[in-house]
Amino acid sequence: MILQSTDAASTNQFQQNMTAQMIAEVAKAQNPASPTDPLNTIDGISGPAYSFKKLNLSDLEAVGAYNLIANQSDQANLEVILWTSLYPPPKNVPTINDYYNFTAANWEEKSYVTLSSYLLAPSTSGTLTINSTDASKTPVINISCYEAASDMNIQILSLRRLRTLISQPEFSKYTVGPANGELIPGPNVQSDEDLATFIRETSVSSAHQSGTASMRPLDDESVVSSELKVYGVQGLRVVDASIMPLFIDQHPTAAIYMIAEKASAMIIEELASIFTGFERYRASVAPLERAYGLQNDQTETEHSVSAGHERWHVFTTTLVYCQDV
Ligand SMILES: Cc1cc2nc3c(=O)[nH]c(=O)nc-3n(C[C@H](O)[C@H](O)[C@H](O)COP(=O)(O)OP(=O)(O)OC[C@H]3O[C@@H](n4cnc5c(N)ncnc54)[C@H](O)[C@@H]3O)c2cc1C
Repeated sequence: MILQSTDAASTNQFQQNMTAQMIAEVAKAQNPASPTDPLNTIDGISGPAYSFKKLNLSDLEAVGAYNLIANQSDQANLEVILWTSLYPPPKNVPTINDYYNFTAANWEEKSYVTLSSYLLAPSTSGTLTINSTDASKTPVINISCYEAASDMNIQILSLRRLRTLISQPEFSKYTVGPANGELIPGPNVQSDEDLATFIRETSVSSAHQSGTASMRPLDDESVVSSELKVYGVQGLRVVDASIMPLFIDQHPTAAIYMIAEKASAMIIEELASIFTGFERYRASVAPLERAYGLQNDQTETEHSVSAGHERWHVFTTTLVYCQDV
């Protein structure tokens, strides 16, 4: 949804005024009995303001999101981002220009605000299919956007709530023109059908793809185990967003860092067990080493270099002793 903001306010001034705190105030004004509705957690102080919303049970039932009620009832469903600018820039989204017949030139003359509604817990899953045995060939990706009717219903509900939000006095004092400054989709777009058309034509990806190699039990169409090891392949782990079994209701980078930290801890632990085994082995063969005159300062120094070096060293020395004994 794109609004025209007061011409007197520069984008910077608007940015300072339209803080996350202000959105919280608007939320309170809309529903004093439930100050956390419609936006229940607020993050971000300057620049774009982010807010996350978990729909209540009756909302989820009304949009037919029974899959979410059964499996993801504790997740936030919507994220609203307030951009103190045009986002995405219309020149990069031809459908918006075609749809509304705006040109880049007349956009640049005025100040705008964009409210984006992100579907955080979609019921729809897409597919990624390997198309060739040649790894350099691109896979076939089908994101199946809005295939589940409830996903579209949630977006329609969200757009309607955004309209309620922008009609609040604290918000509307920053906008100009009829319909609280709403330019896109504009007050003529009201029916479910028209809103759905608008949503389909203007939706863009938030680039949070995940789950294509999900971590689950082997018999559950999974790719990796809880140690992130690829089933049926030796010596291969996957460590990235693709292992997430569930689409998280957040921007994913922090969770991906946690996956990487956990994976590196597991790898170090595995190396450490090899190292401990080697230490036991060394203790057991020490008398033989002394008998054959094999223990000297050189080998002791090599042993203390690094875990990676140790692993290599274990196998070379093992081979020597087996042959000798
Ligand atoms: C424009 C944009 C904005 C975003 N903004 C945010 C944001 O604000 N907050 C947020 O949390 N998330 C954001 N994301 C999403 C986030 O960047 C991704 O979810 C995250 O980077 C995914 O991490 P990953 O480790 O799974 O994969 P990637 O970060 O994509 O890492 C995969 C790596 O593998 C390498 N690679 C690929 N193929 C091969 C190969 N054959 N051999 C060797 N290496 C290979 C790639 O070069 C890459 O370095 C944004 C994404 C985009 C595109």
